[in-house]
Amino acid sequence: MNVFRQESRLVEEILVVDDISANLILLSDMISSEGYSVLNTTSGEQAFQIAKENLPSIILLDIKMPVVDGFEVCRRLKADSVTSGIPIIFVSALDDLEAKLKGFELGGVDFITKPYRKAEVLIRVKTHIRLSQLMFQQKQHANELLAVNKQLKEEIRRREQADNALKNSEERYNAFVDANEDMIFLKDDQFRYLVVNDAMAVFFGKTKDEMLNKTDSELADEKIIFPCGSSDQRLLESDSAFIIEEQLGEHFCETTKFPVKLKGNKKGIGGIIRNITEQKKIATELKESEEKFRNLADSSPAAIGIYQDDYWVYVNRSTVEMSGYSLEELYRMRFWEIVSPDYQELILKNGQERLAGSTTPKSYEFPVRVKSGALRWAYMTGSSITFKGRPAGIITIIDITEKKKAETDILEERVLLRTLIDNLPDPVYVKNRNGRKMLSNIADIKNMGAKNEAEVLGKSDLELFNSEMGHRGYEDDIILFESGEPVINREEISIDENGVKRWLLTSKIPLFDQDGNTTGLVGIGHDITEIKKANETIQKLSQSIEQSPSSIVITDLNGDIEYVNPKFTEITGYTAAEVIGNNPRILKSGETPDEYYKDIWDTISMGEIWRGEFHNRKKNGELYWEWATMTSIKNESGKITNYIAIKEDISLRKQMEADLIIAKNKAEESDRLKSAFLANMSHEIRTPLNSIIGFSELLSDTHFDIEQKDEFIQHIIDNGNSLLTIISDIMDFSKMEAGQITFREKTIPINKFLSGINEEYIHKFKSKELNLIFEIPNTDEEIFLYTDIDRLRQIFNNLISNALKFTSKGSVTVGYEIKDEMIHFHVRDTGIGIPVQYHDRIFVRFNQVESSNTRIYGGNGLGLAITRALVEKMDGKIWIESEPEKGSTFSFMLPVQKKYVEG
Ligand code: ADP
Repeated sequence: MNVFRQESRLVEEILVVDDISANLILLSDMISSEGYSVLNTTSGEQAFQIAKENLPSIILLDIKMPVVDGFEVCRRLKADSVTSGIPIIFVSALDDLEAKLKGFELGGVDFITKPYRKAEVLIRVKTHIRLSQLMFQQKQHANELLAVNKQLKEEIRRREQADNALKNSEERYNAFVDANEDMIFLKDDQFRYLVVNDAMAVFFGKTKDEMLNKTDSELADEKIIFPCGSSDQRLLESDSAFIIEEQLGEHFCETTKFPVKLKGNKKGIGGIIRNITEQKKIATELKESEEKFRNLADSSPAAIGIYQDDYWVYVNRSTVEMSGYSLEELYRMRFWEIVSPDYQELILKNGQERLAGSTTPKSYEFPVRVKSGALRWAYMTGSSITFKGRPAGIITIIDITEKKKAETDILEERVLLRTLIDNLPDPVYVKNRNGRKMLSNIADIKNMGAKNEAEVLGKSDLELFNSEMGHRGYEDDIILFESGEPVINREEISIDENGVKRWLLTSKIPLFDQDGNTTGLVGIGHDITEIKKANETIQKLSQSIEQSPSSIVITDLNGDIEYVNPKFTEITGYTAAEVIGNNPRILKSGETPDEYYKDIWDTISMGEIWRGEFHNRKKNGELYWEWATMTSIKNESGKITNYIAIKEDISLRKQMEADLIIAKNKAEESDRLKSAFLANMSHEIRTPLNSIIGFSELLSDTHFDIEQKDEFIQHIIDNGNSLLTIISDIMDFSKMEAGQITFREKTIPINKFLSGINEEYIHKFKSKELNLIFEIPNTDEEIFLYTDIDRLRQIFNNLISNALKFTSKGSVTVGYEIKDEMIHFHVRDTGIGIPVQYHDRIFVRFNQVESSNTRIYGGNGLGLAITRALVEKMDGKIWIESEPEKGSTFSFMLPVQKKYVEG
């Protein structure tokens, strides 16, 4: 549409466009001199902009211009709806037809050729302005006419519509009434039908025409339509609308009756009867279903609640019981307020989304804070329903606190169990029915040289171990699955990652499902390498102890024997069975003082070592010496658990020591005796020699007469004999001590031998007025001795000469008796006797009883020593019984020659 400013202005505005300024000024001056307002430009580009902004009444446009020429400016102005209506007059030096035609083609209205005259320019400008104004006015008139025409047409259309409406009104009304499913009627005040719709006719089973001007009672059975009459009557009386429920036959109806004013100011009855039988049925069903729901809900152990907006609108009995809140309290609560504060926001959000029809999430768990303040876990299922015609949320809650607790307990137990399993020092694992690992504890992972459990899970022994071990383990698993029998404590050798041989004690226990089928197995391995090594060491140690050359005894803390080695039995004669459980005091000889034992206990119970000797008694009563090292055995924590004694039999050594001491003493004694012997000998020899030499000298002295000299000679003879005796005794004794004495043994009849002794001594006794008595057993049987007869005589000579020498009155008795195959001789005197302290000493050489008598009686102290040596050489024994002043009895016994004793 041309929106060029069409209204006439006080001063017309003209745009002049020419690229040559002189032309532009000339043209502008020509036009402005005529009272027009002039806009001008030398640029075709600007011309378009100025025209658009100022909408001049006319444009004088030069054709030939640089960049954008006049034709182009015209093309643009015509193309723009705002400027297309502005008349354009081309001004050009071009006077050719082609240019002019092109100018008109492009929409130019005129063409002024340079050079131009002012009058020509002005007349053309004026004409075209005028033309333009006329065109505008004409256009305006045409528009007005069009508007009037449009109004008329609208009015005609409206009237036609009103006519049609009027014409169709009744039809439409009837159609509307008939289209209604409700029964619609109009009655006059005589209850006659004036209008009925199709539904009404159908209900009565008549046509509409049949019904018109008829009353209910004329149309239908009174039993069916009787309620209608009274309500019609009520309406006429009350003259105000009401709604009642009526039963028409089997139908339940909701009837609306309203007063209608009829012509002539008469009252009419309008009615709309809605058959609500179906609704009623639905309502009853709904009621029943609601009752069912209530019964169900009230008897449900689950809490059931319905909320609308923010509040509970229904809660069942279990909700009251579960929450501890009363019904009133619950109904005052917003549905999320019962939830634990942490969860309220979530429950509110989900609850509201549910109300908005969202179905997710349907079920979830959360804690509820009940009235007592305790938290209980609820499992909730919710969905959205329509409650009393409005969206509501229904939720069911089960108290899962116990379940939750059980779950937590199980979870904790699982964690506990897993921790336990993982921290067991022994490998523990579970395998499935295919022998693949389902669980592997830390020790097991380590055992397989794996980094973590994931590395071993799902793998069988075939994949986990080298071929031999893998096959064996896998086959074991398969056998176990087939047999269902556990494998307990099976020893297996394996090589660990460092190539070290290790011993494992493996147990595999099958797992069963409810039907008794094996589902897998639990395996427990125990590394017994250290135990094995320890056992080997123990074996070595126990063998060393068993085979020890020392006797070893181990006791408990009470000192009761727990172990003895074979050497102990060998030494003591007690078997292990005899001594185990007993105290080692059974070995006591009774010689060791109690303080000695106390010292041992004090030492070893302090954990120290005791060393020392014991004189103990063997089972057979024999005494023996042992050297013992005793100490305690301590456990890892340093506590004493046992005592151990390691003992060696030192009886032999002891004996040797004793023998050595005896030998030493003997040597010392012998040395001492030798000195004494030499001193004595010199004294004993000098004494007679002194007499011999002295008297010999006197023999040559002339002072002495012959008688005196005879006396001297007798002295020399006596002392010479005495010297001979001494020298032969010394010789004898020396020979005996040197073991050089020789025995010429022969059988000696004793009685005969003794009678010889008697003959030898009888005179000596007589001269001393002493009795020599023989006590011989009164038997004819001769007794024999097998020995050297001279030596035997020497014994008797010594004893009898002593008896003679030391007895001044009374008698000397010689005799014998036979006892236990031994002959017991005795030589008894009634002499001076010997004090008891000298009884042993007199048998030792050169020993004499210290008394003045010795000097009186003389002697060299060798006789009894030689006598004893001779008796002992004859396998006999000599002893003395004596009391001073009462006398002495020397006895000696010798073995009887057996063959003669026997017969
Ligand atoms: P000796 O030649 O001194 O008699 P013996 O060895 O025969 O040597 O006796 C040692 C000592 O024993 C005697 O000196 C005497 O003291 C004492 N003795 C020996 N026999 C008797 C006896 N029958 N009665 C009293 N004392 C005796």
